[in-house]
Amino acid sequence: MNLHSLSENLYERIKACSGKILITIHQNPDGDAIGSGLGLQHLLMKEGKNVVLISPNSIADYLNWLPGIADVVNYELEPERISEHFANAELLMCLDFNDPKRAGGLENEIRKFKGDIAVIDHHQNPSHFAKYLYSDTSSPATAQLVYRLSQDWRIELNVNVAKCLYTGILTDTGSFKFSSVNKETHLVAAHLVSFGINHDEIHARIYDAFSENRLRLFGLCFYNRLEIIENGRVALMYVTQKDHHEFDIQKGDTEGLVNFNLSITGVEVGVLFIEEEKMIKISFRSKGDIPVNEFAKENFDGGGHINAAGGRSYKPLTSTIEHFKKCIKPFIQQY
Ligand code: 5GP
Ligand code: MN
Repeated sequence: MNLHSLSENLYERIKACSGKILITIHQNPDGDAIGSGLGLQHLLMKEGKNVVLISPNSIADYLNWLPGIADVVNYELEPERISEHFANAELLMCLDFNDPKRAGGLENEIRKFKGDIAVIDHHQNPSHFAKYLYSDTSSPATAQLVYRLSQDWRIELNVNVAKCLYTGILTDTGSFKFSSVNKETHLVAAHLVSFGINHDEIHARIYDAFSENRLRLFGLCFYNRLEIIENGRVALMYVTQKDHHEFDIQKGDTEGLVNFNLSITGVEVGVLFIEEEKMIKISFRSKGDIPVNEFAKENFDGGGHINAAGGRSYKPLTSTIEHFKKCIKPFIQQY
């Protein structure tokens, strides 16, 4: 089914909803997850629907100004309320992820859900758990898809919807710089700006919101934790558990750090290893045609987009980095 017919079918289903609609997003929500989720919630509430947005865990401080953020239900804080929400909902809308595995503690609730499920997403290789799968991997952000749906559905936007969707697009495009940005992205942004949002204020709230500790942590990584291998084509950095304590690292503090690897001339793959309590979280970034999502899937139980992906390892930090170095050598030589 083409996207347009799918969008019409989904709208018919939404209009027929007399009960609760749940929106869920992926674990550790970024600007696109929460921006597209809240944007859709505001749109559907304008249509008179009862809509609850549930996040698998807490939302980073740099997003805490988004309209509607205070009403987001955090699964980690109120797990007992969640089953009730799922049991009472008629329609479940999964935004910015395409596999229940990405929803952390909500995975089981999604798998058990008895009502209809809709997915609105832009990641590759969707798993098929939804009745309505609105998937467009050519879109740079899920928020851009929610905008498109709002136009299909002829729902008037307002400044709150515009702020949320603009945030999603801004953050998932690296401030409109990634190759995934297309003509539609700029046209959508222009329309969103026309609702009276301050794009400079949104940018500052997201990107100029460092704590002193966070900037010093970045400094440590640039100065002491950067390694460049494979003839200057691969750059990696790491953050340890000790750093978490020393720099009092908060949610979202390491966001964006991995991208700096790619700011070095000649570097085509950038990697960041973050030693968490029970595993190593790994972020991959690349330039051009180098598919780090395939690399992440093959070697680190992960996935994502061609130029931005994630994965994990349950080995200690040093062995994880050694393993990475072994795997990246033959991989990078293919490109
Ligand atoms: P980040 O490095 O910012 O955590 O993630 C980069 C991109 O990869 C995001 O689009 C994210 O959704 C995706 N991603 C991160 N971890 C995983 C994973 O384990 N599986 C899949 N399929 N995608 C991931
Ligand atoms: Mn996204």
